[in-house]
Amino acid sequence: MTTVVDLDAIPFAFPGEPPATGWRLGLIGDPVDHSLSPALQGAGLRELGLHGTYERWQTAAGAIPDRVTSIRLPGFLGANVTVPHKEAVIAHLDGITPLAARVGAVNTIVRRDERLIGDNSDVAGFTGALAQHTGPLDGRTAVVLGAGGASRAVLVGLERLGAERILVANRTVARADELIRDLECRSATSIPLTQAALVDVLPRTTVLVNATAIGWHAGELPLDAELLDTLPADAHVTDLTYRDTDLLLAARGRGLATSDGLEMLVLQGSEALRRWSGQEPPVDAMRAAAIAARG
Ligand code: NAP
Repeated sequence: MTTVVDLDAIPFAFPGEPPATGWRLGLIGDPVDHSLSPALQGAGLRELGLHGTYERWQTAAGAIPDRVTSIRLPGFLGANVTVPHKEAVIAHLDGITPLAARVGAVNTIVRRDERLIGDNSDVAGFTGALAQHTGPLDGRTAVVLGAGGASRAVLVGLERLGAERILVANRTVARADELIRDLECRSATSIPLTQAALVDVLPRTTVLVNATAIGWHAGELPLDAELLDTLPADAHVTDLTYRDTDLLLAARGRGLATSDGLEMLVLQGSEALRRWSGQEPPVDAMRAAAIAARG
């Protein structure tokens, strides 16, 4: 059982003196080669005047213990964790925040008092990005397509924004059931990712979130585009994929408001940098670097 630690209650302090070569940070995952995080974190470090580097740490599952141990060496400030290691990394940390425990996933590792503490900034990234468009969701219904790792932060985020009803539509319904049970999310219900199920709920939906892996390639749609016609005119469609997906293009073509996943990525990254540096993160510079790196 991993210890739950209130990171906010521990005063910020750098782990020792900065090495001559600069502080080290990095992304633990597999794969990590296309990640935008080195660009956005590099810009953040520069803007804060912090001498350091943010590296891609390609890590196979069997190498997680050694990778985590390396962050304990002098000069390391912490790390981000991405797919598929956000859950597996927890067993190798000294503690996790209550939020990371609730979500069941760590995307940020922070050093405090010689301990490595796991946190989750995906929830803040998702809620911050969505709220820019929708504001609070009190009394509203949201539909989440997908029930994988990212959907965990999405569900907790929608709950925090006040959504009254969350429908989790997944190809594998049992996985959606497990997710809702794990998170003890009382406002959520599972439905199959089918036309028949969605046509029933979309007319009452204010926010539609694509958290499936569908959307990175042209021609991919997580649902039949015609179903978008059943959404209310003021619905917002958001996609965790950080590009203009066919879903977003189809929604915009129908006059619906849309947003992609870049802002979530930027805000989860800026919250991580706040933890590592103890300073207000330079969000605008980080966003500009992420947009430039996306190309
Ligand atoms: P994951 O754990 O692998 O889950 C993938 C989800 O997609 C599952 O619900 C899966 O359904 C569904 N899916 C896969 N292929 C499908 C198909 N052919 N038809 C219907 N459903 C399908 O992935 P994840 O980590 O949750 O990531 C999901 C997406 O979010 C990815 O595109 C990722 O890049 C993005 N993401 C973005 C951010 C950000 O900061 N913007 C952060 C995290 C993730 P089954 O359960 O039925 O297999």
